[in-house]
Amino acid sequence: MNKLPVLKPGDTIGILGGGQLGRMLALAAAEFGLNCHIYAPEEDSCAFQVVRDKTCAEYDDEAALERFAAAVNVVTYEFENIPAATAGFLQFHKPVLPNPNTLAIVQDRLPEKEFVTGLGIGTAPFAKVDSLAELKAAIVRLDAPAVLKTRRLGYDGKGQAKIAKPEDAETAWQAIREKSAILEKFVPFEQEISVVAARGRDGEVVAYDAIENVHWQHILHRSTVPAQIPETLTAEAVAIAARIADALGYIGTLAVEMFVVQADGKRRLLVNEIAPRVHNSGHWTIDGATASQFEQHIRAVAGWPLARPRRLGRVEMINLIGREVNDWPKYLAEPGACVHIYGKGDARPGRKMGHVTRVLPETGF
Ligand code: AMP
Repeated sequence: MNKLPVLKPGDTIGILGGGQLGRMLALAAAEFGLNCHIYAPEEDSCAFQVVRDKTCAEYDDEAALERFAAAVNVVTYEFENIPAATAGFLQFHKPVLPNPNTLAIVQDRLPEKEFVTGLGIGTAPFAKVDSLAELKAAIVRLDAPAVLKTRRLGYDGKGQAKIAKPEDAETAWQAIREKSAILEKFVPFEQEISVVAARGRDGEVVAYDAIENVHWQHILHRSTVPAQIPETLTAEAVAIAARIADALGYIGTLAVEMFVVQADGKRRLLVNEIAPRVHNSGHWTIDGATASQFEQHIRAVAGWPLARPRRLGRVEMINLIGREVNDWPKYLAEPGACVHIYGKGDARPGRKMGHVTRVLPETGF
């Protein structure tokens, strides 16, 4: 119902979510003289620190949402678990980009996988599981090893249980607290990669090179670009991300995580997850490209043309997780290291506190 406005410097983008992604989006918007208004329920949201306007309220506080909508020109979000009702409510007042229909697909692993396979793109074999009996049947069908994942609200390995052998079914079912789930066959991947791409209002898709990712205990530890895969596979990965963005009618930056597997002596790509937002594996673009993933998202939601980012070399990004952030003096003293600290108070284990990017010459890596 809301016609999409083309923003101009001085206008305001509302961002749902107050983490580091919202913070970096707001910093990118500021470069263009755009204001950001952060809406988040947590008082200590690190994105609040870098904006003029903020609302600290629950996602079901309709009065607060209404005031927020009145104060902004468009609304976007920095994480995918915004309640559908919140996005729906806001849509009555202001355009919400990317379209909240995307959230309905990616908030639930089952429709997400069905959407991807419906486009003819491969995923790990999966089965819907709503009971212990269904889990046991699914293990027979898919075969162990497998991973049981809650359909909703899982991230960084939360809500997941590994099934090494069929007898693990009961323990795994209890471990995820008997929620609606999917069972996924364990994929013996060679590499994990992601593609970060932006899609503009005119449907144009601009992607960065494929990124290679290493996780520790389910949390992204290190990303390197370009991924060490053949050019044809990079082109295929980028084409997959573009196909997904097109099919979603997406506006903004998104990331598609993929596994590189061997099948019949050939490398193949399987999609693991779609992130309808800027993504941790794209943080290198702040220092390692002529335009960042955050700038691209801001341009897209503002109705502006996308940039044509150029990579500035081979790039490595490492996350500073938990107490690793205390090493900041070491990184600051390292010539060429770009240090980003998110301003979060408590360096709890597993918490993303900052990242460091190194831009290296194209050769001699
Ligand atoms: P997810 O929460 O689905 O992104 O999973 C987090 C991480 O767990 C992935 O990045 C992989 O390292 C691993 N993982 C998830 N699903 C599978 C699978 N089906 N096979 C092998 N590893 C997996």
